[in-house]
This record gives sequence, C-alpha cells and structure tokens, in this order.
Amino acid sequence: MTATPTLPKSDIKDTSLAQQGQQRITWAGREMPVLAQIRDRFATEKPLAGIRIAACCHVTTETAHLAIALKAGGADAILIASNPLSTQDDVAASLVVDHGIPVYAIKGEDNDTYHRHVQTALDHRPNIIIDDGSDVVATLVKERQDQLSEVIGTTEETTTGIVRLRAMFKDGVLTFPAMNVNDADTKHFFDNRYGTGQSTLDGVIRATNILLAGKTVVVVGYGWCAKGVAMRARGLGANVIVTEVNPVKAIEATMDGFRVMPMAAAATLGNLFITVTGNKHVIRGEHFETMRDGAIICNSGHFDIELDLVALKEMAEEIRPVRPSTEEYRLKSGKSIIVLGEGRLVNLAAAEGHPSAVMDMSFANQALACEYLVKNKGSLEPGLHSIPTEVDQEIASLKLKAMGIEIDILTAEQQVYMNSWSMGT
Ligand code: SAH
Repeated sequence: MTATPTLPKSDIKDTSLAQQGQQRITWAGREMPVLAQIRDRFATEKPLAGIRIAACCHVTTETAHLAIALKAGGADAILIASNPLSTQDDVAASLVVDHGIPVYAIKGEDNDTYHRHVQTALDHRPNIIIDDGSDVVATLVKERQDQLSEVIGTTEETTTGIVRLRAMFKDGVLTFPAMNVNDADTKHFFDNRYGTGQSTLDGVIRATNILLAGKTVVVVGYGWCAKGVAMRARGLGANVIVTEVNPVKAIEATMDGFRVMPMAAAATLGNLFITVTGNKHVIRGEHFETMRDGAIICNSGHFDIELDLVALKEMAEEIRPVRPSTEEYRLKSGKSIIVLGEGRLVNLAAAEGHPSAVMDMSFANQALACEYLVKNKGSLEPGLHSIPTEVDQEIASLKLKAMGIEIDILTAEQQVYMNSWSMGT
C-alpha cells in the first residue's frame, strides 16, 4: 500500500479541486515560456536554496507558475491571496496537493480571514516578501519589527504597492531593499496596459454579458492601466470618455482621440464607468445622483475605494444580486445603479485576471528580482531599486524569441554614432 503523502499546512477551499486546477495551470503554461526557462535554470542552479519566501499575489494559474519556479529554485515558499475575491480555488488546491506548496487563500474570504493569512505569511519568517499592494510589508513594519533582521528584501508587483513603499521610505520605516517590479518596462508596458485592458473588459462582459458597441464608456484615469482599458473599449465599438486630474495625461487622452471632461459632466452620459486611478472616491454621491438609470459601475484599480460604495449604500433602498458578480442598487430616487465585483478589481473578481502571456513577463521579473536580492544580499541600500536594465532587456529578448520574432542589431558604425556627439549637420 502506498502511503498518502502528507500535504503541507494550508487554508484553502477544497483539495478535491486539484485536478481541475492542475489542468488549468498546465494550459496557462503554454503562454509562459520565459518563466519556464527561468524555472528550468533555477532547478539546476538553485539560486534560492534555503530562502524563505512569502508571496502575496492573486492566486491564479499564472501565480502558480511563479510559485513552482521559486520552489524549483530551492525556496521554501508560502502563498497567500492579495485580494479576498481573486483566488482561484482550484489553483490553490493543485498547488497544495500536486506541488506541495502551502497556500492560504479562499475565494470570498472575509477581511478577518484575509488579515489572518497576512499574519500567517509573516509567521513563515520570510527572508523575501513578494507583495502585490504592499499589505504584507506594511504589516511587517508595523507589527513585526523583531523579524526585520531576517528580511533580505521585498519585490513589489503593482503601482499602488510602489506608492505605499515610497511613503514608507519617506517616513523612515522601509529599512530594507525593495525591488520595483511594477516599473520594469517588461512589466508595466504590457501587464498594466494590455493585461488590464483585456482582462477588465473580460470581467465586465462575464459579469453582465452586455454589448459594448454603441455604449458610452467612461474610463476614469489615464495611467498605463486606464490607457489599456480605453483602447480596448474603443476597439469593441464603445464611445469612450476619459476623465483625468493630470493635465499632461488629459492632453494625451485627447490626442489619442478620446473625449475628456470632468466627472460631473461624464456622470450624466455614461452607460458603463470603469475606475482605474489608484485613488479614492473618484466616483461619489454627487455623481451617482446624476447618472442614468441602469448605469453600470466597476473598478479595475487597486483597492475597493475608488467607488464610494458607502455613499451609494446610503442612497439605496434595496440591494440585490442579479447575476454572479453583479448587484443592482435600487435608489430612493427610483433609478438603479449596477455594481460589479463589489467594487473590487473587476478583472480578477469577475474574470481570471491578466492573461498568461503578459504575466509571463511580470513574473519573470519577480523570479529574477528574488534571485537578484539573494545575490546582492547585504549590499543593496534600503529603499526602492529598479530592475536592472539588462534583466529587462533579457526578458524582452526571450519573449520575442518565444514569439518567433526577430529584430535588427546595431551595426558597428551605428554603435559608434549612437555614442558620439561630434558628428552634426
Ligand atoms: N492587492 C491589490 C492588487 C492590485 S491588482 C488588490 O487586489 O487590490 C494589480 C496587479 O495584479 C497587477 O500588478 C498585476 O500584475 C496583477 N495581476 C493581474 N492579473 C494577474 C494574474 N492573472 N495572476 C496574478 N496576478 C495578476
């Protein structure tokens, strides 16, 4: 009789979902060739041997490939959810059952469970924290000062996490190096723009099944993520309005061909509103009041505070689910407003997050950032560090190669020219 292997400790929904999870993880791997190469190198070189890693990411098929690569590199890794609604329970099950990786994440977990899992991540006494939004690092510096000496550094996945790390550094509490994965070119140009662009509309469509052609879609913000959303909404035939607070970005949106106006004006026109700002209460009571009956609102920015849902709840007489991830708020005024994914990231709450082809590059950066932290242990200053340009270029070259695309190389003459100033008119 073969002994049942002991599973790692975990807090997940249901281990019997493992087979389906493994199938989906394998499928995602078809579009993640760069991370696969890194995993294979890690398996022979073991650059993370003995390193304890706590990863706080959306528990998706793509994150599974990152966790597997870290383990192949010798890391003792644990995974928790970076958002209460984004966990794919079958993926969590497969990671535990098939890959022996401890996972603490359940789709729909309440806030207390979410925070308990953050504590579990820190109980792992991590040397490296992979964070998506900086919740683990923020808790570490607030509550676990005694563990700071064990921390080699952190790697941060997302724009809001970088904003928080900068604020921590300014306040003198970020006492270790933080690798800025978000700002790597091979991350934000693709993940933030094409990833968010596609997955956000995917979430809206899965939640509502509405036709976008002919709709007026208001995109709130015009950063990298919002650009992708606006571009893809237009591609589906929507009439897109952009709202902004930054004059440069407002010009950019205008010259990209979008109508730009204040939210007070846009609120009366939109059929669908998508917030992608990283800020707070960008659509609030005064705007809900003037919206059309049946307007749909959702968020694809970091936290669930971009929409002022507290105000909307106060204005509502009745809130009822109408489809999965979709709730109708019937207001005292008689009109309805539809909220998707409880105002949390609609792309991860109602769909599967960014497709694997972009996460391939994002997570290649994560894996290589962990290796870089270990290699440079003790010699990096506290604070934010860019991913080295060579790493970014290497990831781009591997991706291009995997896509079967070749490019030119500089001739010797061009190299000299590009490094000289003396040749003029
Ligand atoms: N913790 C925040 C996270 C912001 S989400 C929150 O949940 O509120 C934005 C990040 O999610 C992006 O930086 C992107 O890299 C990541 N992401 C998007 N799709 C993903 C996927 N399929 N798997 C894992 N992470 C994903």
